[in-house]
Amino acid sequence: MALIDDKSINTTPISSLGEFGLIERLTKDFKCENKTTIKGIGDDCAVLKADTNYRLVSTDMLVEGVHFDLAYTPLKHLGFKAIAVNISDICAMNGKPSQVTVSVAVSNRFSVEALDELYLGIQLACKEYHVDLVGGDTTSSLSGLVISVSVLGEVATEKITYRSGAKVNDLLVVTGDLGASYFGLQLLKREKEIFKENPNVQPDLSGHDYALRRQLKPEAPTKYLKILDKLSIIPTSMIDISDGLSSEALHISKSSNIGVSLYEDKIPIDYSIMNLATEFNLNPISCALSGGEDYELLFSITQNDYDKLKKDPDFTIVGHVTDVSEGNNLIANDGSLHPLKAQGWDIAKE
Ligand code: ADP
Ligand code: MG
Repeated sequence: MALIDDKSINTTPISSLGEFGLIERLTKDFKCENKTTIKGIGDDCAVLKADTNYRLVSTDMLVEGVHFDLAYTPLKHLGFKAIAVNISDICAMNGKPSQVTVSVAVSNRFSVEALDELYLGIQLACKEYHVDLVGGDTTSSLSGLVISVSVLGEVATEKITYRSGAKVNDLLVVTGDLGASYFGLQLLKREKEIFKENPNVQPDLSGHDYALRRQLKPEAPTKYLKILDKLSIIPTSMIDISDGLSSEALHISKSSNIGVSLYEDKIPIDYSIMNLATEFNLNPISCALSGGEDYELLFSITQNDYDKLKKDPDFTIVGHVTDVSEGNNLIANDGSLHPLKAQGWDIAKE
């Protein structure tokens, strides 16, 4: 007997909602009832009341075939990345990471030695970011590897940064540079295809260290928070850049109920990426806007803080906050306005 009578239920394809629509639909009827829940769903971390400060919690899952391909991802790098991308969400709240739990589902395709490698990478990241591995879960999987990491952190109540605090006339700032990780992925995919066609051809990845490192072993943006702290800057809003600048700017716009204007000529892109963009016939600005996996920070500051960070090359002012009525736009080099879209920017060069 069928457990579900297909005729009696309406089925909606998940693709019709998209990731954020799906989360909203699944969680909209949940209300937080504990006083210790300061912020539930909707930011980079959940925020919980601790004794004197706030505790931060975030979870991210990496699925083989979706988030990584073991044909070109060393397991040690993958372990490091799984921790780093979670810590990035703690950074987005202006917090300090303290503990992680790691859950893995593995198929019998993996050897003990392979999992040792994964955990070497996890250990390396734990050391680098001074976090303790305090638990997790281990289970079997019928299809590949799944890694789920939860991270805990803390932040002083007066230093927390939400996505929702941006105000009209604030400046929008990006750390580091954008788009490189996307190009690293394109390189790895290209070499995989070449290898599939002719296994005798050795992969040619030389000279592309930066893009590859950004894709395979991204760092969490902890160092920027230390600089901001020294400069006595508390951003008015902040988010980590995991899905591309455009998508993250839209999150700040929605949460803060403001508009954002980004300037094409201000978007920071590493010089090595310019050559790769020509090689792949891709527009590097589109890749910075929609590429993803940069794990940099996008934040807003009041104009009063501008002088404090204007000379620091770690930070780039990419735009400013406007009234919500002005919408969310990229201002191109020729002055034309292009509405920002979450994934709407066509990566391929016209
Ligand atoms: P990020 O990109 O910063 O990791 P996400 O876009 O994954 O954040 O998630 C947005 C918000 O939705 C977060 O607050 C997250 O905790 C929450 N969320 C995501 N998936 C689920 C789920 N299945 N159930 C409950 N909350 C979820
Ligand atoms: Mg995030």
